[in-house]
Amino acid sequence: MHIDYDIVVVGGGPAGCAVARDVAAAGFRVLVAEEHTEVGEPLQCSGLISARTLDLSRVSPGVVRRPLRGARVHAPGGQTLDLTGKRVYALAVDRVAFDRDLAAQASAAGAELRTGSRVDSLEYVPGGVSLRLSGREVRSRLVVGADGHNSLVARWLGLPAAPERVPLFAAEVELPGRDDHVVDLFVGRSVAPGWFGWVIPTGDGTARVGAGSLPGGGAPRPRRLFELLREMYPGIFQGLRIVKMTGGVVPVGLRGRTYGDRALLVGDAACHVKPISGGGLYLGLKAAAICAGAATAALAADDCSGAFLSRYQRAWESAIGPEIRCGLHHREVFLGMGDREMDGIISFFNNSYWRKLILKYGDLDHHSVIADRLALAPPWAQRFMYGGLKTLLTGRGSASL
Ligand SMILES: Cc1cc2nc3c(=O)[nH]c(=O)nc-3n(C[C@H](O)[C@H](O)[C@H](O)COP(=O)(O)OP(=O)(O)OC[C@H]3O[C@@H](n4cnc5c(N)ncnc54)[C@H](O)[C@@H]3O)c2cc1C
Repeated sequence: MHIDYDIVVVGGGPAGCAVARDVAAAGFRVLVAEEHTEVGEPLQCSGLISARTLDLSRVSPGVVRRPLRGARVHAPGGQTLDLTGKRVYALAVDRVAFDRDLAAQASAAGAELRTGSRVDSLEYVPGGVSLRLSGREVRSRLVVGADGHNSLVARWLGLPAAPERVPLFAAEVELPGRDDHVVDLFVGRSVAPGWFGWVIPTGDGTARVGAGSLPGGGAPRPRRLFELLREMYPGIFQGLRIVKMTGGVVPVGLRGRTYGDRALLVGDAACHVKPISGGGLYLGLKAAAICAGAATAALAADDCSGAFLSRYQRAWESAIGPEIRCGLHHREVFLGMGDREMDGIISFFNNSYWRKLILKYGDLDHHSVIADRLALAPPWAQRFMYGGLKTLLTGRGSASL
């Protein structure tokens, strides 16, 4: 039976394009199928990454819009924890340009990119998988589901949805007078139950803003929460005008299986997302490199069986699983906190000793580094022990499939 490609990557986001680039560079026939007509659109991201992530992506530094030197955390009771440092902790990037650069890298390595091509269905055929791609059939030896939080490939494999899906309101805005290099973060049950709100300055009186909340449980919708935030902090949001909506959904959890016969999942489709912040670019790109390695090994060995591909699960779990597990544990602790407790903790850390420590060890990609140190602080330690015990007893935070 004729097989058109060695690998079809479903989804032309960062994770998919990074896999496509690396597998094409190894000499295999690669197709990337992207349902939208333009890579990177519609934008559903606030584009906050570390310099490490930019290096990992190999994207041109020209996408950086603003280096950021820290954050101000606004407690529910009104206190502010100022964590502004000297070094650059994060970069606000042009996410559309970021995605297009990765797509160009994939094309340059020899991958074929088809935009406006939605994968509607998949089925096994002898020697491969048949995909219906905007009405046309293509056949491939291997499929990579890089198709985001609502992954069709995951559903085809019979895997349940991400354990948690957090809806976020987000927008690019004009914010006159806002021209600094510090992110504002807002926590509290009334403004962002189970998540947080944010303002990321992008220069020239513009910013990216957003808010999220737990789905269900009677919490107001994220858009409403953002309006509440504006009402609570009129000084910060004065003169705000929404230019572009960029909201979406963040998948949170640990997928117990991210492979099947002739298939692998990567990026948001595999829940490669930091559970505390919802950032998915760093972990998605880390996993993409591992995914490409597993795919090329399977193609070279001509063994695309689930048994062979299970090495991918082990490899990414060993590389990024501990960070995700740690984030899930901390999220559990965070979800159990009321406003008074958050006020108490923020107040406790609001002195030069703890601020210096947080600034020294703070790392956008590895929350566990600073969390481990803060866990020794008295008010926090109790929560951690309780949260850890609960995780142990209920099994929450462990593999969910
Ligand atoms: C509001 C918001 C703000 C965020 N801010 C940040 C941030 O500041 N920093 C950060 O690191 N992360 C952030 N994230 C998370 C980040 O955007 C994702 O983790 C990242 O985009 C995941 O990349 P991906 O390639 O796995 O998936 P995606 O970027 O979602 O790409 C999946 C692609 O698959 C395509 N697709 C889906 N189904 C099909 C199909 N059937 N056929 C063909 N194509 C299909 C989609 O069109 C899409 O292009 C944010 C997310 C949201 C929602």
